[in-house]
Amino acid sequence: MSLREQLCEYGRRAVELGLVIGTSGNLSVREGDLVTVTPSGAALDRLTPEMCPVVDLTTGRRVAGETRPSSETPMHLAIYQTTDARAIVHTHSVFGTVVATTMTELPPVHYNALMLGGVVKVAEYATYGTPELAANVRAALEGGKRAALMANHGGVTIGATLEEAFEATRLLEWLCEVYVRGLSVGKPTILTEEQLAAVVERALNPPPL
Ligand SMILES: [Zn+2]
Repeated sequence: MSLREQLCEYGRRAVELGLVIGTSGNLSVREGDLVTVTPSGAALDRLTPEMCPVVDLTTGRRVAGETRPSSETPMHLAIYQTTDARAIVHTHSVFGTVVATTMTELPPVHYNALMLGGVVKVAEYATYGTPELAANVRAALEGGKRAALMANHGGVTIGATLEEAFEATRLLEWLCEVYVRGLSVGKPTILTEEQLAAVVERALNPPPL
């Protein structure tokens, strides 16, 4: 599947799973110094490969395609420039946005949070599409994190492939849902550093068969 076809495929899945509605959300994939991104103002379940423009990683200039790149392209480029990400998924998923409008971080209530780097930080609010928002998200991803939430906005995840970034978005939404639902039942217990370290240890040294 070409990179553009991948954007169409995962765009469709994001809508199907209810992670985005309308024309919200955007995805991109990096190859070398080029970034293929979803277009501005298009529903992610109605994309065609030729609708996805290609931009230069450093200048942000469009080098292929006829459509305007997503308004959030500056954030995607900022993340590529400072992390090892090869793909990025940004959505306005419900539970992610609930956490992003009410808290400053998503604490690790489940050990799967380690797959996103443990605590997920909420990047400070800034207007969508601005360099300020890009810088805030970049700061929230520091320390090798695979996910960040964006205050009063949504979430963003990164991966080595689009599939990985997309699965990270699904996991982020699941973790946010567990936490939010947990808060409505009682006081969710947050895993300690020690408990999380034990999970890492276990994963690195599985018991022999
Ligand atoms: Zn957005």
